[in-house]
Amino acid sequence: PYDVLIVGGGPAGAAASVYAARKGIRTGVVAERFGGQVMDTLGIENYISVLATDGPKFAQALESHASAYGVEIMNLQRGEKLIPPSQPGELIQVQLANGGVVRGRTVILSTGARWRNVNVPGEQEYRNKGVAYCPHCDGPLFKGKKVAVIGGGNSGVEAAIDLAGIVEHVTLIEFADQLKADAVLVKKLHSLPNVTVHTNAQTTEINGDGSKVTGLTFKDRATEELRQVPLAGVFVQIGLVPNTEWLKGTIELSRFGEIVVDAKGQTSVPGVFAAGDATTVPYKQIVIAAGDGAKAALSAFDHLIRG
Ligand code: FAD
Repeated sequence: PYDVLIVGGGPAGAAASVYAARKGIRTGVVAERFGGQVMDTLGIENYISVLATDGPKFAQALESHASAYGVEIMNLQRGEKLIPPSQPGELIQVQLANGGVVRGRTVILSTGARWRNVNVPGEQEYRNKGVAYCPHCDGPLFKGKKVAVIGGGNSGVEAAIDLAGIVEHVTLIEFADQLKADAVLVKKLHSLPNVTVHTNAQTTEINGDGSKVTGLTFKDRATEELRQVPLAGVFVQIGLVPNTEWLKGTIELSRFGEIVVDAKGQTSVPGVFAAGDATTVPYKQIVIAAGDGAKAALSAFDHLIRG
């Protein structure tokens, strides 16, 4: 068995693996796709001390760092079930989609999250070519340009307020007949001079010229009229979904499906820790996930030396 078995090989899992392996204990990582979300990221400009890199390069660096300490990476393997020990002292088991079972004295869950897509023509085609999901990450790329935000919940309205300070103009598109964000955010949004809000509006297409986004088409749901907005970027903000469906019923999850952790990354099951975007830890960013993974590994080590 592993002393520390990590499920998820993004920045959180990779950082956890380095911290655990540096304690001289047997460390394994099961990952559906090692690297995680950064594999879909073009430019990374906010990982402190690295002025600029790209996702695949960053993922390669994560893997080299983990491998340098002898971490056993089981890539392209999906965890399907977590089986907590029936008695204290027993191993924790993770059942894999390929039928195998891996065991750990402690487990760190770092399965990350995925952005919900709008699923309209142009979204996939122009991903990273004007279609973006993370205002903290990609907002500065649209400095002085026109962008849209799809989604009028808290994250959409926060994104619109954030972007309004950077870009020339923000168009916010909400499907329902009113914004669902907190009143204080909606009030702030309406106070901004360079924001236009369309409610009761259904995005039907993200338009482009073959190489980048040039606009967005939406249907006014009251009149059925199609309208086009010229734009350089579209931020999709209709939800971040944690990859925790497989843990339902085993581990305490929040109403958003995030793994509930305490300040040390401890979950509701003793010996099982969690880190990164899959958890209740606020702000989903690489540097935060990495720090969180380090913390979970130190907590797992602490658990082992007390066990
Ligand atoms: P993830 O990166 O999501 O990794 C999760 C890991 O778990 C993956 O290896 C996945 O394959 C694996 N996994 C999932 N389910 C299972 C399972 N059942 N069994 C086994 N393995 C599983 N943040 C920044 O700080 N700067 C940026 O510039 C930036 N740009 C971004 C651009 C895009 C397009 C996207 C999508 C995100 C961006 N982010 C950025 C956010 C950042 O990528 C995430 O916050 C970060 O990757 C979270 O790390 P994580 O390790 O928690 O999860």
